[in-house]
Amino acid sequence: MREEIKKRKKIALLGSTGSIGTQVLEVVRQNTDKFEICVLTAHSNDQLLIKQAIEFQPNTVVIVDENKYDFLSNELWNHDIKTYAGEESLSQVVQMEEIDLVVTALVGYAGLKPTIAAIEAKKAIALANKETLVVAGELITKLAEQHQVPIYPVDSEHSAIFQCMAGEFHNKIEKIYLTASGGPFRGWSAEKLAGVTKAQALKHPNWEMGAKITIDSATLMNKGLEVIEAKWLFALNSSQIDVIVHPQSIIHSIVQFEDGSMKAQMGLPDMKLPIQYAMSYPDRIYSEFPRFNFLDYPTLSFEKADAKTFKNLSLAYQALDLGGTAACALNAANEITNAAFLNEQISFLQIAEINEKTMRQTDFIAKPTINDYVDCNLEARAIATSLLK
Ligand code: NDP
Ligand code: MG
Repeated sequence: MREEIKKRKKIALLGSTGSIGTQVLEVVRQNTDKFEICVLTAHSNDQLLIKQAIEFQPNTVVIVDENKYDFLSNELWNHDIKTYAGEESLSQVVQMEEIDLVVTALVGYAGLKPTIAAIEAKKAIALANKETLVVAGELITKLAEQHQVPIYPVDSEHSAIFQCMAGEFHNKIEKIYLTASGGPFRGWSAEKLAGVTKAQALKHPNWEMGAKITIDSATLMNKGLEVIEAKWLFALNSSQIDVIVHPQSIIHSIVQFEDGSMKAQMGLPDMKLPIQYAMSYPDRIYSEFPRFNFLDYPTLSFEKADAKTFKNLSLAYQALDLGGTAACALNAANEITNAAFLNEQISFLQIAEINEKTMRQTDFIAKPTINDYVDCNLEARAIATSLLK
């Protein structure tokens, strides 16, 4: 029988120069018969973007920072690659006719508008940019349903849940357990956390990631954002989402069904696996990724997450229960405080303090429109910025 010839999946990769972006390109490099890059985008890293464009020969590249545009277009003029600059271009290029899948590997609130544009153009989404679902999960999931667009999770925990759900989508989830490594300060008291430095916070025990998510992992904000992300991806309420600290990061998350049975997905911590699954779903494709050896990990351990000391985690649950614009305000505050901590403007503990105050002070809208999210994001950023002083 003649084997079906599958056409290569055409990909728009937003945030190609980041930690996730470069790993997406690694997966493409290993599978050039399956994937083809059509669009690459970066914020300001023109050098790497040019290198990537020359290697992958996309149709189009975008640099958000307009000051970098002239250099980029000069370097690429004889490569038959279209070049654009500015934030608005992201929302335009994701709508290109030939694109099959948009991988959102850019960081922060900036992911929201291009993701909306991609869904409106009926492009499948491989979502790494969790902030989009935190800010406007209700709007995004409704829009995706309306346009019949699948959202494949890239985040390792959500990929684990999604993998456990294969063949089970008709079955009700009783509960999920998101695993957390606990970050570099697992078990630390508030007193000890008061003096934490940027360098200490940037040392994650198990994962190599971009700076923002590494700080979010140290404060447990990342796990909080993931709780909200899980709510929208799997249509759950807060009582169905538990966080369990698992320092080895081997079990990536667990689903418990109505009969009490639990399914977990496990493997070595390597983002390329969930990235590849989101890109190749429903197929699994061969990889050379190192295999897990049980004898290297004789003990897999579990602990309760300390949401009292690491307040960001409880703030995320509060935002989730409040609904409306609460999580948008929390996310905006956290983008400001995270950057301020990285700039050594505020202490580690001030991150959650300012996040909490901002969430309380920002106007709350129970049934937000897209413009309400935009306004809330701006208002919360202004409040958090004023609280830095
Ligand atoms: P990085 O900081 O490493 O990369 C971010 C990418 O986005 C870069 O390409 C950057 O461009 C671009 N970018 C930054 N700011 C903007 C902006 N305002 N507008 C457009 N593009 C922008 O981040 P990560 O790869 O670590 O994370 C990306 C997303 O994936 C985040 O949402 C994160 O939470 C999520 N994620 C990451 C994981 C990881 O292992 N890293 C794991 C799970 C989820 P430039 O290089 O030019 O600045
Ligand atoms: Mg994760």
